[in-house]
Amino acid sequence: MTDYGAIGIVRSIGFEVPRHIVCLTFDFDTQSGFIARGMTTPTPLSRGEFGVVGARRILDFLKERAIEATWFIPGFTIESWPRACEAVVAGGHEVGHHSWAHVPPANQTREEEEADLVRANEAIARLTGAKARGYRSPAWDLSAHTIDLLIAHGFAYDSSLMGADYLPYRARRGDVAKLGEPYRFGEETALIEMPISWSLDDYPHFEFVRTQSSVLASLQPPRAVMQSWLDEFRYMKKSVDWGVLTLTMHPYVIGRGQRMLALEDLVATLTEEGAVFMTMEQAAREAGERLS
Ligand SMILES: [Zn+2]
Repeated sequence: MTDYGAIGIVRSIGFEVPRHIVCLTFDFDTQSGFIARGMTTPTPLSRGEFGVVGARRILDFLKERAIEATWFIPGFTIESWPRACEAVVAGGHEVGHHSWAHVPPANQTREEEEADLVRANEAIARLTGAKARGYRSPAWDLSAHTIDLLIAHGFAYDSSLMGADYLPYRARRGDVAKLGEPYRFGEETALIEMPISWSLDDYPHFEFVRTQSSVLASLQPPRAVMQSWLDEFRYMKKSVDWGVLTLTMHPYVIGRGQRMLALEDLVATLTEEGAVFMTMEQAAREAGERLS
């Protein structure tokens, strides 16, 4: 009781108790991203399949630490790996929308995008009993229609844009960017944007991808990457009294043993440093209250 009273007093004179939120998010793509890019020979598919092994490890770890996370799960994964997805729900985690087939909306017509959105939401509703509250686009590339579609389909938040780091903001629609002209800003919407960054995503740090036209040969030492994520948290503490740090991971990437150990140690250090872990839906709700 004393603690709540103290917080009340602090708030009433205009100060705020610092609160630094960390959202651990897992994009449970399994094979969907490889199939969407036409990589359907056995080895890339098995690479996605490893995500189910990784997911089990992550779920065990989150349970041990009593952390609720957000899992963005494509409809493909829900229908291909139903038991693995039921385990996510049984763990008390939020399930967010991550398309059905993992095709970036920027590569779809509005009709294709909406059909995929609806199909994936139906799969989520069958899995969890409710439609998703949050959306994250495959490969983080929204179309000009995505924000409108998310609002029309009742989403509370998106997590695909990079216009801020620690402070969620209201997603805009109708921005106009033309070469040689000043930028024209569209209108703010009710949709909360939970910003992300490639630097806070495990994929570009750790993956090795060779295609006919390019090679991504990252394979960074896990603890070096975790140190950079810890520094990001420390800078958030230094620069804002309230903020959200969103970490994006993929079970088939982070689920390798060397990376799991580094993640486990990062979470322990973040906990010591006062991080408050919660789902994106919970963090978006707090953000919405602050933005209203
Ligand atoms: Zn994905």
